[in-house]
Amino acid sequence: KVIEGEALRKKLHNTILELKGNIRVFCRVRPLLLDEGVEDETKPISFPTTTEALGRGIEVLHHGQTHPFMFDKVFMPQTTQEEVFEEVSQLVQSALDGYKVCIFAYGQTGSGKTHTMMGTPGSYDDKGLIPRSLEQIFEARQKLKEQGWKYEMQVSMLEIYNETIRDLLSANKCSTDGSANKQQYAIKHDANGTTHVSDLTIVDVRSSKEVSYLLNRAAQSRSVGKTQMNEQSSRSHFVFTLRIFGVNETLEQQVQGVLNLIDLAGSERLSKSGSTGDRLKETQAINRSLSSLSDVIFALAKKEEHIPYRNSKLTYLLQPCLGGDSKTLMVVNVSPAPSSVSESLCSLRFAARVNACEISIPRRQTSMRYMEPRLSYG
Ligand code: ADP
Ligand code: MG
Repeated sequence: KVIEGEALRKKLHNTILELKGNIRVFCRVRPLLLDEGVEDETKPISFPTTTEALGRGIEVLHHGQTHPFMFDKVFMPQTTQEEVFEEVSQLVQSALDGYKVCIFAYGQTGSGKTHTMMGTPGSYDDKGLIPRSLEQIFEARQKLKEQGWKYEMQVSMLEIYNETIRDLLSANKCSTDGSANKQQYAIKHDANGTTHVSDLTIVDVRSSKEVSYLLNRAAQSRSVGKTQMNEQSSRSHFVFTLRIFGVNETLEQQVQGVLNLIDLAGSERLSKSGSTGDRLKETQAINRSLSSLSDVIFALAKKEEHIPYRNSKLTYLLQPCLGGDSKTLMVVNVSPAPSSVSESLCSLRFAARVNACEISIPRRQTSMRYMEPRLSYG
């Protein structure tokens, strides 16, 4: 039987994905903010324009050395939220086809993670990945209805702070003060790869408006914690989960997809002198979970036998959605400010490890060579 047209394209696309793995790394550089001065001669970040690196390369000038990196995609400061979403929409859509998807925003505090994921509240153009994804999913659901598909969706939102889960949709005020007992929020994965977190609030949702309402509630719950707990929001991982159950009775098919959108804790290293007591404990927890995440993705990319999911709450929680035929996207957010250059370099190195494609060549070498990253979705 001859396959052609769309079917052939799909088959080729899937074959390429199989060969290349399901992990993508994008980098996004935010614009310089007003209080960071004006763009001047000391710009530490630049974007090479050679054919091979166009739209995928980024270079950091640090202590007189240029560090080039290449990712599946690099978004320059002027890139709009809409343009970023265009590159992600297919991946989001695949959750409706029954895939398990994780999209992470990584980077130091102030690099634009929350802007990328949530956007600026109240500003239509500046909506981030989460609201755009939900609008797309609910719109697609409406269209798929005509083809006989019925979808049910459930949302949960939690925060992981110091390796402890906090339910952001809990109506029960007591559970927001961090005094969770051991039995609460225990993570279990069943044989179908479905994750159950005991006592976690799960809400059935029918529209993106309903989810917006829940997102606002979660944001409020997070900011309460912020004043009590030392800017907790930048010191914790925010995990938004949408579970999708689709049934088509005429086709006798069903699908179960999951979309996880994660705003990670700030990746900045604290100065050694400042790291004592609670702050030290916090930093260690963040470092441990971020490096566990990179260990897991690295091991998956290398197709290693043992994947160290168990080393942190975050990776254990997301275990069924990382690996197998799940799809993972890491968006590494970077500040262009000269004062952030060493943090930016650290973030890019983290990303490069995940992407397994860092090379560091000094400027004086005549030709810049980048290793080919894995192909992007699409
Ligand atoms: P993070 O969540 O990583 O700490 P934020 O998303 O809060 O960082 O961004 C820090 C500041 O930079 C915010 O004021 C945000 O509005 C602004 N910002 C971040 N990314 C962009 C962008 N792409 N365009 C315009 N402003 C941005
Ligand atoms: Mg933030």
